[in-house]
Amino acid sequence: MNKYYPFELHCHTFHSDGEMSPKTLVNASKKRGYTGIAVTDHNTVSAVDETVALGKECGLKVIRGIEWTTFFGHITALGNNTAVDWREIDMQNIDAIIEKASKAGAVLTVAHPKRHGSPMCKGCYMELPITKYQYISGFEVWSQKTPNREGYNLRAIELYDSLLCKGNRLAAVYGYDWHREKADYSYAYTFIGDKDEPERAIKSGDTFVSAGLGLDVKVDGQSLPFGSELEAGKHVFEITVVNFFEDFCSRYGVIPKGVALKGSSCAERVAALGEKLTVNCSEGYLRIEIFGDMEGASNLTLALASPYYVIDRR
Ligand SMILES: [Zn+2]
Ligand SMILES: [Zn+2]
Repeated sequence: MNKYYPFELHCHTFHSDGEMSPKTLVNASKKRGYTGIAVTDHNTVSAVDETVALGKECGLKVIRGIEWTTFFGHITALGNNTAVDWREIDMQNIDAIIEKASKAGAVLTVAHPKRHGSPMCKGCYMELPITKYQYISGFEVWSQKTPNREGYNLRAIELYDSLLCKGNRLAAVYGYDWHREKADYSYAYTFIGDKDEPERAIKSGDTFVSAGLGLDVKVDGQSLPFGSELEAGKHVFEITVVNFFEDFCSRYGVIPKGVALKGSSCAERVAALGEKLTVNCSEGYLRIEIFGDMEGASNLTLALASPYYVIDRR
C-alpha cells in the first residue's frame, strides 16, 4: 500500500495579503492535521525562512514557495524558486520564464485557473499563453471553497483534461489559497506520496485531491503510484476508499458512493465501491475519481487522482 500525506500547497501570510503570521499559519496547519504546507505569498519569499524554522520545531514540513502574481495569471513556484524575478513575467515571455525556473529546480503549479479574482486581486483567471507545459508540474484542479462543485473548479477540470489529452503530464493538486485562520467554508486536501520530498512527488505526479478521503489503488494486484506509466492492454483496478479525516468527513457529510475511471485511454467506467474494474486501456491517460455526497448534495466529485499514462509499445 502506498502511503499518502495531506498537504496544503497554497498559503498566504501577512507578508502579502494574508491575515496570519507565520506562527499562526504553522499552528493552524498542525491543528488541521497537515503533514506539510507550502508558503506561497504573492511575489515575496520574506515569510519563508521563519515559517520553515517554526515548522521544524513542531514537525510540520514547510515547502519554500512563492506565488507569481501577475495581471495575466498566477503560478506557484515551489522549492528552488528564486531563479526568476516575477517582475520579468509578461504575456510574451512566459514559456521562457517557466523553462528557466523549472531547469533551476522550481516545481511550478498553475494556480486557480478559471477563477475570477476579487477587485483586490487581479489576474486570478489564467490567461498566460503557456505552451511549454512540460515545465509545469502541477495544476490546481480544485481551489478555495466547496471545491467539488464551484463553477470555476468544474471549468478548471475541463481545461486540465484538455491539456492531458494533448499529452501533457500534470499532477492534480488542490489550493486552499489560505488567507485567514478561520475556515468559513469547506476545503480539501492534496495528498502527496512522499512526505520528505513532496516537490519530487508532485513532479512525478504522485498526488490526489480529496475532501477528507484517503485512496488506495492497486493495478493488477500491485500498488502503483499515481503518475506512473502503464502498458496498453487489459488492467484490473482495485480502488479502496477510507475516511482519512473522520472529523472532516462527518462535519461536512462526506459519503463516498462509487468510483469512476476517466480519460482518453478508455470509455468512462463507473463502479460501486469495492468492485474490481477490468479495463482495456489504449494509449492516453486514465484517472480515477470518487463520487458521492457532501454537505447534503449528491453526485459530487469527492476525490480526483492524478493520471496514469498508458503507453502502447506494441
Ligand atoms: Zn492567486
Ligand atoms: Zn494565492
